[in-house]
Amino acid sequence: MTSIVLCGGLVCDPEAGSLALADVVVSDGRIAAVLDPAGGARPGSAPPEAPASAGAPARVVDVSGLVVTPGLVDLHTHVFVGQDLGVDPDLVGPPSGVTTMIDTGSAGAHLFGAFLRGTVEVARTRIAAFINISSVGTTSIRLCGELKTLDYVDPDSCRAAIEAYRDRIVGIKVRASADVAGGNASAAVDRARRVADETGLPLMVHLGPSPAALPEILDRLGPGDVLTHCFTGLSGRPLTERGRPVDVVARARQRGVIFDVGHGMSGFDLDQARAAVAAGFLPDTISSDLHAYSRDIVKDLPHVMAKFLALGVSLPDVVSRTTIAPARVVGLDRMGVGTLRVGAPADLAVLRVTGAGGPAGFAPPDGTPPTDAAVTVALTVRQGEIVHSDIDHLVAT
Ligand SMILES: [Zn+2]
Repeated sequence: MTSIVLCGGLVCDPEAGSLALADVVVSDGRIAAVLDPAGGARPGSAPPEAPASAGAPARVVDVSGLVVTPGLVDLHTHVFVGQDLGVDPDLVGPPSGVTTMIDTGSAGAHLFGAFLRGTVEVARTRIAAFINISSVGTTSIRLCGELKTLDYVDPDSCRAAIEAYRDRIVGIKVRASADVAGGNASAAVDRARRVADETGLPLMVHLGPSPAALPEILDRLGPGDVLTHCFTGLSGRPLTERGRPVDVVARARQRGVIFDVGHGMSGFDLDQARAAVAAGFLPDTISSDLHAYSRDIVKDLPHVMAKFLALGVSLPDVVSRTTIAPARVVGLDRMGVGTLRVGAPADLAVLRVTGAGGPAGFAPPDGTPPTDAAVTVALTVRQGEIVHSDIDHLVAT
């Protein structure tokens, strides 16, 4: 397999929390080394004398002025191709630097096999999934929700699917809001809670119009569980008030509940996000909730990243929340996903970060929050292969 050397980029390592000039060497589909500009290996990286496989010609890509990160990990997507919400992961992933997509509840127990065979097993993009507690999965957005009748919410079917597809299912999803569940939201969360406890998987609950209300949901979430659409304006209950997180939110964060953005069509209220950032309450993970109906609004994960840069969140903080942090939520960090570890799968994104938040403006000297940040993708590498590039003319060899 061809080796690739990304030369001269500003490398953002989310595990080290570092942002520094370095070269990233890829060989045999894995990260072979991260070298400082003098050619030395960083601590923990491979020795410089053996970065690439012997004899393989290297493609050298000049990425100076660009930001190199692990391939982006999107914790909230809908990629069940052919399902109402589904977008094709191989069409939307590479141009947006996203190499790992977590589908959140598109399929329930009855359709998970179809999702697996039709999308997950054939996609080039890495896909893992939260299974919907409703056996029918997420229903068409134009129809009534999948929790409107509890007859579909069968814990036994969900448990059986988890046992059958354990290597792909990383959690359980429940859309616990009045628009999806009518008056059944709390009962559905309780059933999902039970399956999560029995299987040891995290629970992801979406926040929307109550019931269920924010305190009722958070009371049912423990360490590693996820509240998505955390900045939605639909719940009527912001996470922060008067410059600090409300008590139930502060307690949930303290015990390790994950607060996820899940932008989507109506999952993100900029004023709530601004107030939270000003209160020092950053989301744990930044995700898109990309689907067929949200695509024109969300555009892609880099656009959501740019919104947080524009709110004054630092580039390393934004990158960690779109790489290592979501990988940890679903346990994929254990195989190196979301990292720049030597030996990790060579999934990489090369970002063009412009405006404030870009290489010249990581920390605005006057403290003014930047407002013109933009993040676009110059190059995407998936398992050592370039799957998207708009900088082909810079490839030297
Ligand atoms: Zn969603």
